[in-house]
Amino acid sequence: MRALSRFTVRASLPEPLAALGTLATNLRWTWHPPTQDLFASLDPQVWEQVGGNPLRLLSEVPVERLELLAGDEGFLMRTRAIADDLHRYLTAPRWYQRRQEELAGHGEGGDDHSLPTSIAYFSMEFGVTEALPNYSGGLGVLAGDHLKAASDLGVPLIGVGLLYRSGYFRQSLSLDGWQVEHYPVLDPRGLPLELLAEPSGAPILVHVAMPGGRVLRARVWKAQVGRIPLLLLDSDVEENDEDLRGVTDRLYGGDQDHRIRQEILAGVGGVRAVRTYCELTGVHQPEVFHTNEGHAGFLGLERIRELITGQSLDFDQALTAVRAGTVFTTHTPVPAGIDRFPVDLVQHYFGSEDLLPGVSTQRVLALGAEDNPGLFNMAHMGLRLAQRANGVSKLHGEVSRAMFRGLWPGFDTNEVPIGSVTNGVHGPTWADGGISKLLGESEDPSAPSGVGLVGFEPVTDALLWELRCGLRARLVDEVRRRVRAAWLQRGASALELGWTESVFDPEVLTVGFARRVPTYKRLTLMLRDPERLRALLLHPERPVQLVVAGKSHPADDGGKALIQQIVRYADDAGVRHRIVFLPDYDMSMARYLYWGCDVWLNNPMRPLEACGTSGMKSALNGGLNLSIRDGWWDELYDGSNGWAIPTADGVTDPTRRDDLEAAALYELLGSQVAPLFYDRGGDGVPNRWLAMVRHTLATLGPDVQASRMVREYVESYYAPAAQSANSVLADGFQGAKDLAGYRARLRAAWPHISVLETGMSTEAAGAPLLGAPAIVWARVELAGLEPSEVDVQAVLGRVGDSDELYDVVTASMRHTGNGGYEIEVPLPHAGSLGYTVRVLPRHELLASPAELGRVVLAG
Ligand SMILES: *Cc1c(COP(=O)(O)O)cnc(C)c1O
Repeated sequence: MRALSRFTVRASLPEPLAALGTLATNLRWTWHPPTQDLFASLDPQVWEQVGGNPLRLLSEVPVERLELLAGDEGFLMRTRAIADDLHRYLTAPRWYQRRQEELAGHGEGGDDHSLPTSIAYFSMEFGVTEALPNYSGGLGVLAGDHLKAASDLGVPLIGVGLLYRSGYFRQSLSLDGWQVEHYPVLDPRGLPLELLAEPSGAPILVHVAMPGGRVLRARVWKAQVGRIPLLLLDSDVEENDEDLRGVTDRLYGGDQDHRIRQEILAGVGGVRAVRTYCELTGVHQPEVFHTNEGHAGFLGLERIRELITGQSLDFDQALTAVRAGTVFTTHTPVPAGIDRFPVDLVQHYFGSEDLLPGVSTQRVLALGAEDNPGLFNMAHMGLRLAQRANGVSKLHGEVSRAMFRGLWPGFDTNEVPIGSVTNGVHGPTWADGGISKLLGESEDPSAPSGVGLVGFEPVTDALLWELRCGLRARLVDEVRRRVRAAWLQRGASALELGWTESVFDPEVLTVGFARRVPTYKRLTLMLRDPERLRALLLHPERPVQLVVAGKSHPADDGGKALIQQIVRYADDAGVRHRIVFLPDYDMSMARYLYWGCDVWLNNPMRPLEACGTSGMKSALNGGLNLSIRDGWWDELYDGSNGWAIPTADGVTDPTRRDDLEAAALYELLGSQVAPLFYDRGGDGVPNRWLAMVRHTLATLGPDVQASRMVREYVESYYAPAAQSANSVLADGFQGAKDLAGYRARLRAAWPHISVLETGMSTEAAGAPLLGAPAIVWARVELAGLEPSEVDVQAVLGRVGDSDELYDVVTASMRHTGNGGYEIEVPLPHAGSLGYTVRVLPRHELLASPAELGRVVLAG
């Protein structure tokens, strides 16, 4: 019999065990081993069966067992201790609170330095735990790690996103190695979620207007991630029309129309959900909104609407106010990876007065404008709606400044106001407990970390090696289990699967490669020369074993063909004991890979990997990275914490580039990595290898942490954004009105501003010396602006062949009256120098001189 529908009944716990309910619903258990151990001890067998999921455990442990435990004083004491620990974790001041106090101590009277009281963080996916499968890959897992680190640090964040009925797809393989997708339906009542409701118990419904007078409604679920609430909107409610119920059916499924509805719900509905949540709970309304990638960008439009209807601001004033408190993070340097909608589609939804009353459609469309007049660009809107923006590694910051420089015409690429915060990963989630203990790490991220291994005498090589071997052995068991299950799934009979018991060898150098399968990640680079790979796998003394995993987007047949190539290669009876493809890469599998792999391989097409985080998770466990210098590895590779695969930058023929880079990869693996791994002392321990492991743990350990990332966001983005937001809203939004008025005056005056005359002189009779003072002067037509409203700058630098300036220094010039300007600057370089003069907007509420994309150059 098949069930007609599925629903979940939660067990009712005997009163003395009530605390287990709280411990199971607060997702802090996902990174707190003592809580996991407590749950496991309820019934180790069931714990295993339910994949370590406390809520499922509680509903499947027999009632008699629960009653027995309810009378077990020892168990109750342990439960109380863990519950008390959670309570302390949730309430005691942490890094953020200490930082607030420090700043208050120094701030004497001014609140300029205070940190925001609340920050909303919007993302289309959140990968907190496999028990809440609401993510597809890197972006979601990063968002989950962001929340967890914010919780550990005490940062008052509120997460906002959608709850998908089927999450992302589950992957299996057909007999011939083709990816097959399935979408198990999730019942939110069986997930660690709580419905947001009025005090009366009536569920909150967020409303968003759809064209044709229809309304899209969504209920709001709350997951509790340590100290952080995560609000997830869910359109699957009876009050909705049938098609609208499906808006949150799947992550990254469906067509453009489906997708824009999801993004409207996440952005516009998301803001409404946060407003209601804060009103109901008394939590501060957010001062800062963080848009994690363009998808959630409509949140800015809803906030503009709020200010137009609630504060009687005009569009420009509202835009100015919203920008001040918005941070935008871009995540992809792949132009095709940027979300774009046909303008007609945006017009269809935003053209009706009902969705955002009072907000002009033309102004909305202008925010997403790009080169192609038929397309609406969500990244461009993200940048135009945020006063502060960043990429996710230093290299990606650079690439993003070049990619988006068209939005700031007249400025050098390095002046484009997009910074960078390198991604990080949540240590307590991704580091094996044994390794963390060795490092003396705790959940308090302000405690020093990663330093334990260097000069930490008791951790001998033998001990470290034992730990690494244990992790590898655990991975080998998991590989065998999964290979067998995958073959059964593909239709093999158990009788022919005896060989799976000896797949992989716990003594062999183990290399991992797992990621989504877009072209730029080059899943099959390792197959470039199949015979050379085979020789590495089957080397008589120094074999390598390779574990591969990854999902292709369901609509991407090219990606599926790449997976099939790997699977077919790995199916060969001659190598299948040394190379495996494991289907259904997700957080539960990923953990074993990061723990157990000796080497983490990454070979993207540089510079298309914005950051990459899987290698960081491997590094936290003492895995050594073998990677193209892209994303985070470009800035954190130091020559002895792993290996850099040389890139054939500048080779434009992709086939030839792949050939060159694959050859470099084989060469490194065969002549450096494997020999080092198998170079053993008398006790069988590879001391030179372990020296690299120690160095990796010590140097990368602190840098790859999500707590480092979140602290950077707080100091460099959230705090300044909160200050800007507070400056524009004081005295009835006087700041926003001033700045908007200034922008309007600029708009009128700018075409008429010009640098009329310039000159430069030095004291020397012949060629001046480096560092000697030079006087630059200019006369500027200000077209009615006040001298205080512009910044006239002297720009000095080296001159290239075509007269372009580079390596420039800039200096603001002094107004000497009647449009005259002058400044003395020391000559910054020897050799051929040049100078120019430029005029920039100046206003105290601007975050950067390039912000408005306006500049007038001399000549
Ligand atoms: C970390 C992680 C990713 C992202 O890895 P990248 O190196 O950024 O590709 C994807 N999926 C899962 C399950 C992860 O844990």
